[in-house]
Amino acid sequence: MRKGGFFPDEFTLGSVLRGCAGLKDAISGVQIHADVAKLGFKSDICVGSSLGHMYMNCGLLDEGERVMKELPIRNVVSCNTVIAGRVQNGDPEGGLRYFHLMKQIGLYPDGITFTSVLSACSELATLGSGQQLHGQVVKNGVVSEMAVRSSLVKMYSKSGCLTYAERVFHEEEDGFEVDLVIWSSMIAAYGFHGCGKEAIELFEKMSVNGFEPNDVTFLSLLYACSHSGLREKGEQYFNEMREVYRLEPKLEHYTCMVDLLGRSGHLEEAEDLVNSDMPMDPDVVVWKTLLSCCKVHKNAEMAERIARRILELDPHDSAAHVLLSQVHADSDRWGDVLDVRSGMKEKKVRKEPGMSWVEVKNKVHQFRMGDTSHPEYKRIEEYYRGELTRKMKEHGYVCDITTVFHDMEDEEKESSLSVHSEKLAVAFAILVTPPTGPAIRVMKNLRMCTDCHVAMKLISKITGREIVVRDVTRFHNFSDGDCSCGDYW
Ligand SMILES: [Zn+2]
Ligand SMILES: [Zn+2]
Repeated sequence: MRKGGFFPDEFTLGSVLRGCAGLKDAISGVQIHADVAKLGFKSDICVGSSLGHMYMNCGLLDEGERVMKELPIRNVVSCNTVIAGRVQNGDPEGGLRYFHLMKQIGLYPDGITFTSVLSACSELATLGSGQQLHGQVVKNGVVSEMAVRSSLVKMYSKSGCLTYAERVFHEEEDGFEVDLVIWSSMIAAYGFHGCGKEAIELFEKMSVNGFEPNDVTFLSLLYACSHSGLREKGEQYFNEMREVYRLEPKLEHYTCMVDLLGRSGHLEEAEDLVNSDMPMDPDVVVWKTLLSCCKVHKNAEMAERIARRILELDPHDSAAHVLLSQVHADSDRWGDVLDVRSGMKEKKVRKEPGMSWVEVKNKVHQFRMGDTSHPEYKRIEEYYRGELTRKMKEHGYVCDITTVFHDMEDEEKESSLSVHSEKLAVAFAILVTPPTGPAIRVMKNLRMCTDCHVAMKLISKITGREIVVRDVTRFHNFSDGDCSCGDYW
């Protein structure tokens, strides 16, 4: 078009910018930004918004926000672009910050705004802020919007509050409409919390109510089955998905099935599924799912085979290295453990550091193993190592050296000296909240190790506190010495 001597107008520019956003092609995007300036469309709201959206989608969040701020008019739509841009591109805190800014300049958030900020709270598992938003949702009169309500269900579920999620879901009885997304969100909520039976009941109820499930619904349902050990049910639904509903399973569905088979100890079947039944090429996630099943069932031989496949795809995958070294450690093959470890050093593979967050009085506190920067650090560590550990030992706690030594976290320097981040977070919450306070909710960026899991059970018994830990795969709800996962995770 340009070679033909035509000048692009605001519609052309908007379209190509959306193209760049879709392709995440910032280089072409920047060139078009220059054209926008040259052709004098800098102040055009539509072009400006597309430009901001392009930058955000390409991960250049600050640049995107700057473009949006330079627009002559700031309205709800332009603010929504920035908020959604931040939340969807890995910066939920930034999304919430802009939301507060938006209210400060006197703009009223709408349903789309709330959908974005609620999903930011889901990411951060900040129940306090999420509840405040729920209040604002009601006040702003958008509570009947279905997208908002399914975001509320997700937020409560991801913050560990299944009962509140259920309450929002059941508001349908108050005359609110429901759609497939809300049903699917609630099924997913049951799955996260290890309530497979409830998820299945809801799925059946949904069909009776005339809603036809889509692939997202099935993904939630299969996830729920695999996380509750319901292998036969899972297989049944996987078949129904194809045969009754004519939905083609995607890679995620296969991953769920691999998890379902592998967890229940059918490792060979799971491997066959990946090797011969899947119509698409397996990715690292599928293999890693199978690898962690090998760890659970202590199958070192298969673990090695699978780890090799993963490292072919991504030689620097830290989780694969760590899992493999754990499998070796579990079968006392310490020579192999050392091999994996030195291999990691050679390749300079860096493990993701373990981090935990806990929200106390609407403030989020972050803990990282070995990081002493928290203002209360000394007190927390003293309390954990002293009083709490002593009481745990009275209840039969023996520190599990193998997992402490071979945890997924970076414990190489100070293995036995350091306390895993979720323990610090819980100890801190116990210290600063009243003994009769609400459940302690911790979020963790990796999988919990066995030792922390045992410790949390005992701490819940000793202190009488309910503790909810959301790790990277699921929820653990500890109370009175037991966990909702039934040690199945
Ligand atoms: Zn741990
Ligand atoms: Zn658990």
